[in-house]
Amino acid sequence: MRTTIASLSREIISEADAYLYLENMRWHGETKCPKCLSTDVHYVTPTNGVSRTTAGGSQSARRVWRCTPCRKQFSVLTGTIMHATKISVRTWVMVIFEMCASKNGVAAREIERKYGLCPRTAWHMLHRIREAMSHDDYVLFSGDVVVDEVYIGGNPEFRHANDTREVGIGRGSKKTPVVSVIDVNTHTVRSQVLESVDSKALGDAIRMNVDTATTTLHTDSFRGYLSVGRAMAGHYIVDHKAGIYATDKTNGTNLCENYFAQLKRGLKGTHIHVDPKHLHRYLNEFDYRYSTCELTDSERMADLGTRLAGKLPYAHVIA
Ligand SMILES: [Zn+2]
Repeated sequence: MRTTIASLSREIISEADAYLYLENMRWHGETKCPKCLSTDVHYVTPTNGVSRTTAGGSQSARRVWRCTPCRKQFSVLTGTIMHATKISVRTWVMVIFEMCASKNGVAAREIERKYGLCPRTAWHMLHRIREAMSHDDYVLFSGDVVVDEVYIGGNPEFRHANDTREVGIGRGSKKTPVVSVIDVNTHTVRSQVLESVDSKALGDAIRMNVDTATTTLHTDSFRGYLSVGRAMAGHYIVDHKAGIYATDKTNGTNLCENYFAQLKRGLKGTHIHVDPKHLHRYLNEFDYRYSTCELTDSERMADLGTRLAGKLPYAHVIA
């Protein structure tokens, strides 16, 4: 069945339902100990059969498991972005779905109003979901790869004199440069914020993501790509200044242009202002949705369920 906000609200009525839903999302019926990965685990039935009493004396619907080999107790939240959360699991599931299903992203302000959270909690929650959406860097791209850079942020000349928010990252830049590397076959994109736009920074960003021996690079005529292009199996260039956007050998950087249009629409329309120091997390989110655009919302939600491991404490986000 297709997952929608309506189907989720019908399926998840209580907090216990939300735990069950998340367990299915993360473990697909095979509960695994997050510490030793053993499947030799058993459910710990609460003493009154229904709920557990927390250290603070309140009742909790938390579903607790115990691992036989390492004797650790855990729940579906242990070792995930939701570890030690005070937000209800039902809210988490709903917000994760909203993040999976909204093409232009969801604003923290919106989540705050819809779910009755405080601003800081909503903001941190969305960043933790973005953490789950981050790249699988260990798989290198090969074959045809398109690379281009884009500049994010408003023009500082039009700022109000009292506006002291940070602008741009990197050497003397007014906007924040971002480079995106897209695998043509899989339409997987990885973007990163650059400290400067030169051969070294661009080369490093490309080498980090592709297998140079088997990759053909497609870029515009910016000189910064020439050096790294020589190390690749091939390098096709389109000269935008001469009005050439595609040749018989390459479709140029059109894939990147499409992605940048989507990224800018989301950043401008939904998030309005993104602090450059948090931009990399927003890129994770937009990269993830673009890379999984072939999936339905339900499939994307299921995929994200397998990526929940990892932590992002509030102190780490604001550091
Ligand atoms: Zn264990």
